[in-house]
Amino acid sequence: MNLQHQLIEKYNRPIPRYTSYPTVPSWSVNPTQEDWKSHVSNSFKATNQKEGISLYIHLPFCESLCTYCGCNTRITVNHAVEVPYIEALEKEFAMYLSLFDEKPRIAEIHLGGGTPTFFRPENLERLITFIFSHSIITQDALFSFEAHPGNTNYEHLKVLSNLGFKRLSLGIQDFDPHVQTLINRHQTVGDVERVMHEARSLGYNSINFDLIYGLPDQTIDTISSTIKEVIKMMPERIAFYSYAHVPWLKPGQRKYDESNLPKDEEKYSLYEHGRKLLEEAGYIEIGMDHFALIEDSLLTAMQTHKLHRNFMGYTEKHTSLLIALGVSSIGDSWTAFVQNEKKLEDYYRRLDENEFPIMKGHILSNDDLERRKLILEMMCQLKTAFKPELMNDASFNLLNDLLLDGIVSIFDDTIEVSFQGKMFLRNCCSIYDSYLNDEEKSQQRFSMAV
Ligand code: SF4
Repeated sequence: MNLQHQLIEKYNRPIPRYTSYPTVPSWSVNPTQEDWKSHVSNSFKATNQKEGISLYIHLPFCESLCTYCGCNTRITVNHAVEVPYIEALEKEFAMYLSLFDEKPRIAEIHLGGGTPTFFRPENLERLITFIFSHSIITQDALFSFEAHPGNTNYEHLKVLSNLGFKRLSLGIQDFDPHVQTLINRHQTVGDVERVMHEARSLGYNSINFDLIYGLPDQTIDTISSTIKEVIKMMPERIAFYSYAHVPWLKPGQRKYDESNLPKDEEKYSLYEHGRKLLEEAGYIEIGMDHFALIEDSLLTAMQTHKLHRNFMGYTEKHTSLLIALGVSSIGDSWTAFVQNEKKLEDYYRRLDENEFPIMKGHILSNDDLERRKLILEMMCQLKTAFKPELMNDASFNLLNDLLLDGIVSIFDDTIEVSFQGKMFLRNCCSIYDSYLNDEEKSQQRFSMAV
């Protein structure tokens, strides 16, 4: 067994992905309605003029379930659900507006899902127009949306482009027909080429492809053919995610046989192979799971230490206030997080009762805020300050192992992740995670590090 494989065996255990700190399963200090209002309005007052705010809008509907899916979705072919949902989003946004003493300056909007392009273009237009009519859009605002190549039509692209959306993220996963059958997600290379071509003709200048490694029956061959097709289309960005197998949270994942899932070394080889092909084609790895072409702004952000990571992944925008609208969406005032109700019926009911539809959250302590900063730096810059005062025995033991295995080094009071250590970035961040003491609990809550 070579060294890399020994490391995988040692470090491949359940670890959070650190899209937030504290991570959602560790949230414990729930904000009340009044707490949340005051955290949002304080954050707004402090940052609206300086940096603006970000908006995440969750559009949960999909026409069929992809079995690997880890998102909050509602499967339906009934498009009568669209208008009531848009009305609910408008109401929720209006509730936030009532907390502000001036118009919000919007620096970023991301439409996620579910499948945003499930919605008819006119309904998306109605929603965005409503938001714009109550806001100021900053000069360099970034608007993006997630799209399913199978149901994204020219009209979707045109309407959103006219509203200022120039970024598009296409869920590809794998082009192999057998893998697609197992994960119940069907789209051809032709579907993707059509969307790319139409998007380019409308001026979309940043296109991201989502790919996943570790899906059932994926092999080096399927990954190679998929990436070769991807490279021909040259999207600016590629997110190459590790499949997260969490069937206790997502029962759809029980639809395939677990023995078909590539594990440990096999899964790592898929990643390594994909990474090499992407790098040979000119993509540069950013943080964890992300690749970008050399001229892409995400790479510039990393090089100038402006890269940020939030619930949507890596971004070059950093606003302290992220307002999240829609069922299950997660908002962040920097000093507090909240997650909206996960069931659509509960989301509607809470709005009908004129309450922010939050089901849980966390108010960050000063200790949380300090650790959050360190973990964020580690995720974005692959290095952060060495702070022994924030470490317990378990953290020191882990750090010692990471040092001995060449995954990190310490120089000038800075912990830095090595090239070969990038694969274990989540393990490195966990040094500062004060909620990860109960190993037994973490076995049940998180996906594997690799
Ligand atoms: S993967 Fe995307 S399209 Fe598929 S069910 Fe999940 S949210 Fe819907």
